[in-house]
Amino acid sequence: MPIKILPEKVSSAIAAGEVVERPASVVKELVENSLDAGAKSIQIATEEGGKLLIEVVDDGCGIAQEEALLAVARFATSKLQTAQDLFAIDTLGFRGEALSSIAAVSRLEMVTRAQGEEVGSKLIVDGGEIKPLSSVGSPPGTVIRIRNLFYNVPARRKFLKTENTERRWITRFVSRYALAYPDVRFQLQQEGRTLLQTSGNGDQREVLTEVFGLETARQMIAIPPSPGAEISVSGFVSPPELNRSNRRELTFFVNGRWVQDSSLSAAVLQAYHTLLMVGRYPIAVLFLQVPPEQVDVNVHPTKSEIRFREPDRVFAVLQRAIRATLMGHTSAPGVDLHSTWSRDDRSSSSGAVSTDWAFAGESSFDPSASPPRSLQGVLPSGTIPLLRAVGQIGASYLVAESPDGLYLVDQHAAHERILFEKMMADRDAGALESQNLLEAQTIEFSHAEAVLLQENLEALKELGFDIEPFGDRSFRLRAIPSLVTGKDPAFALRSVVEEFEENEEPLADALEARLAARICKRIAIKAGQVLSVDEQRQLLRDLESCSLPRTCPHGRPTMIHLSVDALERQFGRR
Ligand code: ADP
Ligand code: MG
Repeated sequence: MPIKILPEKVSSAIAAGEVVERPASVVKELVENSLDAGAKSIQIATEEGGKLLIEVVDDGCGIAQEEALLAVARFATSKLQTAQDLFAIDTLGFRGEALSSIAAVSRLEMVTRAQGEEVGSKLIVDGGEIKPLSSVGSPPGTVIRIRNLFYNVPARRKFLKTENTERRWITRFVSRYALAYPDVRFQLQQEGRTLLQTSGNGDQREVLTEVFGLETARQMIAIPPSPGAEISVSGFVSPPELNRSNRRELTFFVNGRWVQDSSLSAAVLQAYHTLLMVGRYPIAVLFLQVPPEQVDVNVHPTKSEIRFREPDRVFAVLQRAIRATLMGHTSAPGVDLHSTWSRDDRSSSSGAVSTDWAFAGESSFDPSASPPRSLQGVLPSGTIPLLRAVGQIGASYLVAESPDGLYLVDQHAAHERILFEKMMADRDAGALESQNLLEAQTIEFSHAEAVLLQENLEALKELGFDIEPFGDRSFRLRAIPSLVTGKDPAFALRSVVEEFEENEEPLADALEARLAARICKRIAIKAGQVLSVDEQRQLLRDLESCSLPRTCPHGRPTMIHLSVDALERQFGRR
């Protein structure tokens, strides 16, 4: 189809908006254009996290010389002609907006040669100003270079995240598309380093290995496509024992388009219901095929949100496909459905998802009811009196008493505080102990994770991790902080990296303390973990001796106090 400016009637029907938010969104638009152009090979290179340069080279259909200027015009597209077409979109682009929007906020250079034309065309647009078109020799396909993104929009530039964050987003995005298009050869280079390279031979499992690393990819369970079904699901899901602390590894493609959709996430989580402990999420890469007329992609400018005509049906198909796959996968050895990350932790053996009440004596508490107002008050910081352990509620809170009343202690927050103070005190005393592993472990990370770990390597060393890069994206772990012993070291390190991922903001200053706080968050006793009476006592003892016992290192309260006075008032004794 030739490129044409959309008639006003059509363009006004398109969800308008700004598509260029950050370097990763430019990469997304350019890669989607290459895929729409039928490219079999797409090479992406960025410098300074895409702020200085984003280059995308493809071998797709190219743009005819007479249309090259149109490509950068607003609402010029070859993918749509009538408003009717909007209801059955089978290309990734359709808005005719990306190139013009990008060209308005950068220096864009395009060299393109249409298949069948003798020469290529070169076009330069500088901050929206289009320079004369020239003929150049070039191979068929298209090269687009975006330099100095947002150079003329300082406000935007200022709000960009760090280069590392941008690099991570770009890697994440390209990896996902490489998975969805295994017969396209993808190459991603950042700062001259190859981060991702796929062969384009159509083998999805091979791409999975490239993206997630051998160990993770090996464990992922395939959902084969169901040909003939009107709505079909295929892809990969993790067995329950392979899980993450956030939903970030839930990836969905609908008709080849990467989308974010909370109901699809909910369907996956429902399929794992009771298989995963609270707060843990599976890894899933899922491809849905839905008749185009049943999906509205024209909802949001970035096209990453969609609307299904029959959302419940899609939900059900997805949920069932995954559930059936998981149920058929019972042979996995050593599946510990309750595993927290501490496999040898005796105290979690009774089931981390348990909501059993380990309360000393009878109780008629309703755990879901909100506490009376007087219970909601949080104590100011300062030391705490000696506490006597009474019991545990909901496997998450300790009940304790002291002469001045009742204390409810959040076991996770409290343990975070204890570990944090210990770690910092040891560090200050130069006594931060690290424990050598009997055997060094080699741990493989995804590219994005490896970048994160690399960034924090020095600080982690200061805190007692002995880690060194070991090849492309593997690391060798030789020692861990003594505080972490008793935990599976590889899992501990993974948890720490996950924590970095969740808090993408860089740790600029007070690096070690903040890093330590993040580590402690990961290694602390979890909510949902049943503690023996001795363990409850020990936790309270340790908390009493903290210098700031009333808050966790992130500033949340560790305890709620109900004074004798308040109790008497609640019971109408006063
Ligand atoms: P859209 O993708 O929504 O049509 P864009 O602004 O992204 O809008 O692109 C405008 C037009 O330029 C596309 O419709 C397509 O015809 C052409 N185009 C852009 N990138 C490429 C490419 N890599 N190869 C071939 N044609 C391209
Ligand atoms: Mg496009």
